Amino acid sequence: MAEIPTTARVVIIGGGAVGVSTLYHLAKAGWTECVLLEKNELTAGSTWHAAGNVPTFSTSWSIMNMQRYSTELYRGLGEAVDYPMNYHVTGSIRLAHSNERMQEFERAKGMGRYQGIDMEMLGVDEIQGKYPFIELHDLKGALYDPTDGDIDPAQLTQALAKGARDLGATILRFTPATGVSRENGEWIIHTEKGDIRCEYVVNAAGYYAQKVGEWFKPYGGRTVPMMVMSHQYLLSEPVAELEAWSKENGRKLPLLRDVDTSYYLRQEKTGFNLGPYERNCKAHWVTPNDPFPEDFSFQLYPDDLDRLEWYIEDAMARVPLLGSSGISRVINGPIPYAPDGLPLMGPMPGVPNAFEACVFTFGIAQSGGAGKVMAEWITEGATEWDMWAVDPRRYTDYTDRDYCIAKGMETYGHEYAMHFPWHRWPTAPDRKLSPVHDKVKALGGQFGVYNGWERATWFAKPGDDTSEEATHTWGRSGPWEQRIKEECEAVRDGVGVLDLPGFSRFNLSGAGAADWLRGMISGGLPKVGRMNLGYFPDNRGRILTEMSILRHGEEEFTLITAATAQWHDGEHLKKNLAAGLTLTDHTTEYDTLIVTGPKARDLFAAIGEADLKLPWLSIQTGTVAGKPAMLARVSFAGELGWEVHAKVADMPAIYDAVLGAGSKPFGMWALNALRIEKGYRAWKGDLSTDYSLLEGGLERFVKFDKPQDFPGKAALLAEKQQGSKKRFVTLTVEAGEADAPYMSTLWHDGQVVGETTSGAWGYRVGKSIALGMLRADLAVPGTEIEVEIYGERCRAVVEEDQPLWDPENARIRA
Ligand SMILES: Cc1cc2nc3c(=O)[nH]c(=O)nc-3n(C[C@H](O)[C@H](O)[C@H](O)COP(=O)(O)OP(=O)(O)OC[C@H]3O[C@@H](n4cnc5c(N)ncnc54)[C@H](O)[C@@H]3O)c2cc1C
Repeated sequence: MAEIPTTARVVIIGGGAVGVSTLYHLAKAGWTECVLLEKNELTAGSTWHAAGNVPTFSTSWSIMNMQRYSTELYRGLGEAVDYPMNYHVTGSIRLAHSNERMQEFERAKGMGRYQGIDMEMLGVDEIQGKYPFIELHDLKGALYDPTDGDIDPAQLTQALAKGARDLGATILRFTPATGVSRENGEWIIHTEKGDIRCEYVVNAAGYYAQKVGEWFKPYGGRTVPMMVMSHQYLLSEPVAELEAWSKENGRKLPLLRDVDTSYYLRQEKTGFNLGPYERNCKAHWVTPNDPFPEDFSFQLYPDDLDRLEWYIEDAMARVPLLGSSGISRVINGPIPYAPDGLPLMGPMPGVPNAFEACVFTFGIAQSGGAGKVMAEWITEGATEWDMWAVDPRRYTDYTDRDYCIAKGMETYGHEYAMHFPWHRWPTAPDRKLSPVHDKVKALGGQFGVYNGWERATWFAKPGDDTSEEATHTWGRSGPWEQRIKEECEAVRDGVGVLDLPGFSRFNLSGAGAADWLRGMISGGLPKVGRMNLGYFPDNRGRILTEMSILRHGEEEFTLITAATAQWHDGEHLKKNLAAGLTLTDHTTEYDTLIVTGPKARDLFAAIGEADLKLPWLSIQTGTVAGKPAMLARVSFAGELGWEVHAKVADMPAIYDAVLGAGSKPFGMWALNALRIEKGYRAWKGDLSTDYSLLEGGLERFVKFDKPQDFPGKAALLAEKQQGSKKRFVTLTVEAGEADAPYMSTLWHDGQVVGETTSGAWGYRVGKSIALGMLRADLAVPGTEIEVEIYGERCRAVVEEDQPLWDPENARIRA
């Protein structure tokens, strides 16, 4: 039996494109003492049979970044590692059947331009110039992406492997990992050939990731949220006309994606490759008579063309040439899906020094970028780009097997669907319910999902159109618009109530708790009986997270943070916790109401017992409707108000009383509009590791002169001396039908000068507002710029660095 190394810095489990790219990037970063274990031959999982399409298109900034990086890497990789490979940059054409789709393309084009990708909108009459064999019926236009193409996935993997080996990394083929254990803060990876001791381990096991993930449960792990779909593409016989066209033009046809019908069609040698994402899709290995196999290396599922018939016919009507030849081969392979179809990349939840780089549905297009991101996580503990969209901690405890299967199928069947801001994917609802869920529903509540919790987004009145179809718009208008306005006005003029289940809540106590917390945040702590906002920077001074800090005693705190941040923030606190301190998660024990508006004091005077004269940012224990509750005088809506934090069992009575005392229910969409008018930031939009605290306009939360050091202090001091490149700004926008979504481009004098981080209509100020990051020299009140919203350049003005609504905060302090 061949000798294997007994130690390594990192062991990667899985030799597909993603695992090997991670190894290559670690080696490039100088971490050459790394070992990749592959149970069979490299590529034996999903990689060997992938079609190899390499798009850059995405409506997610970070995914586009990752894919763009891949294309740039792949262009030079063959030469860099001396392993020539087939990578055809053919460009691609995405077809639009609707105006909404054209708007989506405009948005992607804008983001692409920002990243240096020169996408181009095509009118219907321009499409045949790039793709002569196409029929134009039903089309509104198209998007041309010159960087799209296809690569041979096996050659790509081998090239990355050669690059890694040449730098000194080790790849062990036919060496399955059989388990893991942990000793003295190190991992021991077991194989049949011996154990390897290492600092870090990466689960890159593709569709086997859930199996490998089980080994980590004794060390704090959870079931990996995923399922496996069957995905097919068909290869046609050679097509003479195609061959002739290619010969004449010296290139392949661009790849065609009919995203509204849901397939791609690519030239493969002198024939076609047709790959649908069918609505009537099929999951595998989810029923007792179809068990997960011990090994599926280099295997395929049987062909299942019936499922694809409709798509094949549609494609033949679009490109009749496709019908001129027969099918030569069908590839039907396993493709893993997380519930949202995005990979799991980053720290393995709950487990020290373990990472996930698995469950990729577009792992060929993404492996280059994924390798870069994973190497950064491992060697630096942080990534250059904010990668929350793919962070495994975005899923918490609600992703059981049924959920993963149902969501995976829904996502696969809508792989190319548009993700409208008002739309909610309907499958697998009601994972986590507020104690007053039924009451909220009875009031007309329409729900959105926040870390599995159902929260009202708006309240419909009888007769309002609450259908899914009504939400298929990027625009502001819809059945909800008038209701959001009414809800905002009720908060402005009277009092509103919003039920907020799932607020992440941690209690911290123990001798030294205050000192420790001071060393974690950039600012100061509140006095006993008060609360404030704490910003947690990373070592580079970037915004890791924000929490409300409520101080009950000298050494006793409650930390409250976004629902979706539960595992992310919980782990950050736990990982850094000083010895002797106690940190406990109480998220599910409590429910929260936001009760806010100028009449909030009158309301509590009628139904509660509390000192309602205590100032803004005070906290106290009182009663509401005779039930014990903690009242925190704060309002994310920017009006007089209190948050009511009460035990789950007590909330129904409190909610009834608050409603009975004349408050009007409002939803998350109204809250979003209200908070943007106040310039209050939201996590992972306005607040992310893409920005430093100083760029984020949070200097008043940074106490450079406090005695405690804190993460990122040196970086922030350096930035302060040199000046920030970007600045957080509030913009008023002469918007058309739509307000600015996340990552809309900002223009000045024909140059891209920044991006929005969120946008909404402000009903109190009667304006469209965007929050964003602007080149520092332009971040001066009164500067006129443009915001590109779904392709339309809208005039905007930089506002004073203060809230648009109630700049003196007189209303919240009232
Ligand atoms: C028909 C089809 C077409 C596709 N087309 C495209 C496309 O055009 N573009 C695109 O981007 N993506 C495409 N994909 C998806 C793509 O194939 C995957 O996203 C990608 O291959 C995932 O790579 P990976 O490295 O994460 O996983 P895998 O390639 O599955 O690699 C995981 C590896 O882990 C190994 N392993 C598992 N358990 C162990 C263990 N215990 N010890 C050691 N090794 C272990 C496996 O043997 C396997 O080699 C397609 C998929 C299918 C099914």
